[in-house]
Amino acid sequence: MDAPILDTAPLVDPFQRTIDYLRVSVTDRCDFRCVYCMSEHMTFLPKRDLLTLEELDRLCSSFVDLGVKKLRITGGEPLVRRNIMWFFEQMGRHLDSGRLDELTLTTNGSQLARHAQGLADAGVRRVNVSLDTLDAEKFARVTRWGKLDAVLRGIDAARKAGMAIKINAVAIKDFNDGEVNDMIEWAGREDLDLTFIEVMPMGEMEEQERLGQYWPLTEVRTEIAKRWTISESTHKTGGPARYFDVAETGKRLGFITPLTHNFCESCNRVRLTCTGMLYLCLGQDHSADLRAPLRMSEENGPVRDAIRHAITLKPKGHDFDYSRQGVKGQVKARHMSVTGG
Ligand code: SAM
Ligand code: SF4
Repeated sequence: MDAPILDTAPLVDPFQRTIDYLRVSVTDRCDFRCVYCMSEHMTFLPKRDLLTLEELDRLCSSFVDLGVKKLRITGGEPLVRRNIMWFFEQMGRHLDSGRLDELTLTTNGSQLARHAQGLADAGVRRVNVSLDTLDAEKFARVTRWGKLDAVLRGIDAARKAGMAIKINAVAIKDFNDGEVNDMIEWAGREDLDLTFIEVMPMGEMEEQERLGQYWPLTEVRTEIAKRWTISESTHKTGGPARYFDVAETGKRLGFITPLTHNFCESCNRVRLTCTGMLYLCLGQDHSADLRAPLRMSEENGPVRDAIRHAITLKPKGHDFDYSRQGVKGQVKARHMSVTGG
């Protein structure tokens, strides 16, 4: 048993931002190879480098001890990690105790059909499913390995299990730019919220290839406004999206715009990898190793101290910039699947 926690002050970074949101990448592996996220031939971490699920439980619980209220499980594909449902059940105990407000996940949906009920039973009320196109052939092309019908079945199962679903679509020039209206209509019909995301310069990719994919969401919004009546919404999820209400469908439409609108000033989150590295910003390399303090002692005191110290390293913001026909602030060494998007 761990000693009672004396230090329960919230985590506050050097810019006076309270950190109460932890995103955890529980694996770097995935059953898809999305073109903007992974290369076709990925080398994954050796299994021995991963934290065990018990260790991830200790780490996440330490964050909850320090005031984290929202936990998002991601990857790689979180639902391909063996025994991951055990981990969700363990995190569910923090919901039961009232110390955690929300347990959620971001998934590609491929395994959702078989896990939806278990997730709901563990206390997951909302799920984000990534889906960039409703065309099966294009879906196979962008994910390289994915099957659209499995994802659609997963979405259906999640809805039947009572979860609210948000679709995240990466806006990609010359790929899904002709589909935005169809996707809004489909989301309205299926009772799903929908958010468009700008492509971020993560992982290795030729600069021209990256620029070729980039479709600024200001342009996407102009396109959408030609067909739909959208008005800015006051809705907030604690995430970086800005929301609009679509009058015709009654559903919400979100935009995540790290490039055209920088939202770092209200950043409340940090990211933990499956090896125990804590990244303080998606777009910067500032990080701290939590695995060593975790393994140093069976008590969680050293790990809590290490978390507090790490928060003092959180930078003011990212430097992503596609302006002047170049890609700036790129984080080449880290694929999105490492820090979890
Ligand atoms: N495998 C899960 C999934 O796809 O939802 C979770 C991990 S994935 C890395 C999380 C999110 O990051 C997905 O919505 C994906 O579309 C997004 N993503 C990956 N690479 C990206 C990039 N370069 N720019 C913007 N979003 C990206
Ligand atoms: Fe896998 Fe998600 Fe990355 Fe696609 S975006 S390759 S589904 S981790």
